[in-house]
Formats: sequence, structure tokens, C-alpha cells
Amino acid sequence: MAKRPTKYVFVTGGVLSGLGKGITAASIGTILKARGLNVNSQKLDPYLNVDAGTLNPAEHGECFVTKDGAETDLDLGHYERFLDIELTSKSSVMSGKILRKLIDDERAGKFLGKTVQVVPHLTNAIQQAVLDASVGYDVQIVEIGGTVGDYESPAFFEAIRELGSKVGNENCAYVHVVYLPYLSTSKEIKTKPAQNAVRDLRSLGIVPTVLVARSEDPSNNNPKSKLSAFCGVPEAGIAILPNAKTVYEVPLTLEQQGIGKYISNHLGLPNKKPNLKEWEKMVTRITAVPKKICKIGVVAKYMDNQDTYMCVFEALRSAAWWNNVGIDIVWIDSGSLSAGDGAAKRQLKKCDGVVVPGGFGTRGLEGKIKAAQYCLKEKVPYLGLCLGLQMAVVAAARNAGVASATSSEIDPQGTNLVIDTMNDQKGKENTGGTMRLGDYPCVIAKDSQSAKLYKTLKINERHRHRYECNNDFRDQYEAWGIRIVGTSPDKSLVEMIEAIDHPFMIATQFHPEFKSRPSRAHPLFDGFLKAMI
Ligand code: GLN
Repeated sequence: MAKRPTKYVFVTGGVLSGLGKGITAASIGTILKARGLNVNSQKLDPYLNVDAGTLNPAEHGECFVTKDGAETDLDLGHYERFLDIELTSKSSVMSGKILRKLIDDERAGKFLGKTVQVVPHLTNAIQQAVLDASVGYDVQIVEIGGTVGDYESPAFFEAIRELGSKVGNENCAYVHVVYLPYLSTSKEIKTKPAQNAVRDLRSLGIVPTVLVARSEDPSNNNPKSKLSAFCGVPEAGIAILPNAKTVYEVPLTLEQQGIGKYISNHLGLPNKKPNLKEWEKMVTRITAVPKKICKIGVVAKYMDNQDTYMCVFEALRSAAWWNNVGIDIVWIDSGSLSAGDGAAKRQLKKCDGVVVPGGFGTRGLEGKIKAAQYCLKEKVPYLGLCLGLQMAVVAAARNAGVASATSSEIDPQGTNLVIDTMNDQKGKENTGGTMRLGDYPCVIAKDSQSAKLYKTLKINERHRHRYECNNDFRDQYEAWGIRIVGTSPDKSLVEMIEAIDHPFMIATQFHPEFKSRPSRAHPLFDGFLKAMI
């Protein structure tokens, strides 16, 4: 039997940003995957950056890292968690990446004297990036960042319109995610902004196949018939998404409203009953009343912004669900800890465990060291992620009397640089794309707590850092109360440490949070939660 062509589902947005377009894209992927299809996911971001490496996480959310080392938008993290797959750099396309290639080709004379234009050169390059990523998949979900009408995005909308007409209507679906505001004075849901957003999309030549409408309170009047009449989408192709208890409920809500079946029919996919049993069990576990609450101190410089540390919170939550406990996040401002603020210290004392997540730059680093010094001394469970490992090593050295111990990120001229720049990165400290990025293998010491948790001695985890443990100090670790329990296979790089005689103090040079899934807790986060319980 001839193989079916790859089907494309383009997910666009209108009215507002922040509606959960990424969650919708991941959820559609989930209900198609539940039908036995091999699903891939991709994000096209129209803004002009080359990648997400230099974007401020406080504004843009966490920078997600793929196994092959691409620095991407956080939506790729949602796709990996929902679809339980590992994506590559092909899944993240930003304007800068495509434009840079076009300009390089123009300089190399590859256009043979032609005028280089948005149509067809840029739009073709965007389409090629979509086609290249989709090879071998039954379905590729392609989310377009931003909202219809953004200054940066016309070429992207034109590219997906052209691609649709090339592959044929039966091989592609357009899902438009819109918002239905609720007017409390007249107690009604208004559809006009959604109508306008659909009209904007149609003005670009794209007719939506499916409308997903987010709404705060859809219970009092069903807007489907009105949306259908004004937007030209049959009611069966419209889903109303109320606020969910957990984002993992969204695939089930879309499925209940018939969207899986509707898209499958449109794309001519076999109408299989989806297998969402495990997913339903997972949502039951997630929404169950926890038997205990653990207070987790997160020592951070970006406060009260879960998007900045998205994967860390997802990994903590997943471990909590699997241990049937709830978590109460206590944000501890690393800046006020460094300033010796007593209130921040008192907060630290109330926590059952402390996480020091990754970070860049000098602000708040002294506070992170203080938090690690406290957890070492008081034997409070501590999980250090990347920067959290580096600061734990400095903390151990300082606790043992090496008062000048520091990292060259804090003081490049320091005398005891227990954390230092990696040799091959020297001189490139302030530029994008110069880090150790992506998956690297690590070998774990047999008799360690980490080995017990991972239940294997060979692991592969994702990295994103410039600085490393300075090997000149390795033989002093035991005297400082810590041990190296994970290294690169050639032993040249420290990847994991544990505190000696401590209930749980594990820190990693890598970011285990990227590989956590809601369907299975990551072993280190699981161990951290268990230590707190
Ligand atoms: N700033 C540190 C480094 O570059 C840690 C990075 C991180 O936490 N991801 O090595």
C-alpha cells in the first residue's frame, strides 16, 4: 500500500497572545498520537532573532534546549512533554535563522543575479524548513508564533497558505485559536474579536478548518452557533476551551468536543478510536487531592514568574503528582539573600527543600551561594541545576574555610576560581551560541545516591552552560564535604556532585528538568520530593 503523504496541521492565533496556542498545538498532537499516528511538532517564530539563546527569559519565558543543542522557544518543551518525544533543531524556526541563510546565499551568488524577494525566496525557505522537518512523520503540527496581523508575520502566513495549496486541502488543516471575552455587565460572551481575528486570517487567504476559542466562562451561553455563522466554520469544527485545572486536561476537552475526529476526517486519516486511557489516568492523578504539601524554596533572580523556569516547575510538579503530594512554591529573591535580608533567610528556614535553578549573569549569585551554604550546613534537601551545581561547589569550599572561593562568572580575576570558563569557550563569554549545548553522556558512580535514583550508571542529559568545575580543585572536594558522582565518560568534566552525610544534596551541571515528563517523574526530582516527604 502506498504510504500516506504527511499531513500538516497549522496552528495560528488571533485576538490576544498568551491564549495557550502552544498547549492547543501540543494537545492536538496528543489526540492524533492517541490514534496511533507518528506525530512531529514544529514552531515557526516570526520575530527576527536567530534563536532563543539571547532572549530575556523574564520577558519571553524559559529557553528550551533540544537534544542536538538548539536554544528554542519554551513551546518546544510543551510539545516534548505532551507527545513524549525528543525534538531537534529542525523543530524551531525563527526568522533570523532563515534570513541569515538567505543573505549568505545571496552573498555567495546563489540567486544568479535575481532580485531576492519575500515572495518567493523567503516564503519558499520557510516552506522548505517545514517540509524538511516533516520527513517520515504521519502528521506535523506547525505552530506560528504571535498573532495574525503582527508586523513580522506576513511572510509566515503566506508560506503556510502556499504550502497548503501545494500539498492540497485534504493534506492540511488550519486551526485558529481565538479568545471570547466575557462582559460581566451584560453577562455574556462576546464573539466579535474572534470574528475579526478570523477575518484577518481570511484576508491572508487562509480559511480556518477548526476554531479553538478560549473562554473564561463558557457555561452561560453557547457561542458555537454564532461563531459558526460569522466565521464560516461548521459547529463540529469549533471547540470552546474554558480555563482548565491543568493544561493536561486540554487534549481530553478537545477530544470530548469531537476535534480529533473532525481533523482526522478532514485529513482523510483512518477514523480510529483514540487510546487516551493512560492520559486520563494521568489527569486523575494530577487533579487528585494531595496527601501532603511540600514547601519548596526556589532561589531565583526572576521572581514570581513560572514561565522563566517552566521545565523546572513542570519537573517538580510531575514528581509531586507521582508521590501524591502538592507543592507550595516559595520564591526566594536571591538578590535579597545576598544583601543579607533577614526576611529572605527566614523564608529559607520554612522550606522543606530548596532548588537553585539555572541562570546567567552576576546578579543574585552571592544569594544562591548563601542558600547552598545553608542547605549544606542544616542538611536541608537541595537540588542544584547547572548554576545550582556551580554555586553549591563554591558554597562547600567557603563552608570549609576557603573564603575567597568563587566562580569566574562572578569575579574573573578571583584567586580561587573553583568554577571557571571552559578552555574552548575562553574569550567568547558574551556572545550567543557559544555554550556547551544539548545532550552529553555522563557516567555515574556506582555507590552514589544518584545511581540508586537513576537505576543505571550511564545517562544522557541536556546542557546549556559556559562555566565548569575547575579540575584543579577536584581533589579537595571530599575535604569540603562533597563528592563527584558523575563525570563525562573520559572523566575530564564534572557533571554531578552530592554532599557527603546529607539526606539529599544533589547538583548537576546538566538540566535534568528538560527530560522530565508528566507521565513519569524524572529520577532526581523524584528523589528530591521523596527526601522532603
Ligand atoms: N551561567 C552558568 C554558565 O554559563 C550557568 C548556566 C545555567 O545555569 N544554565 O555556566
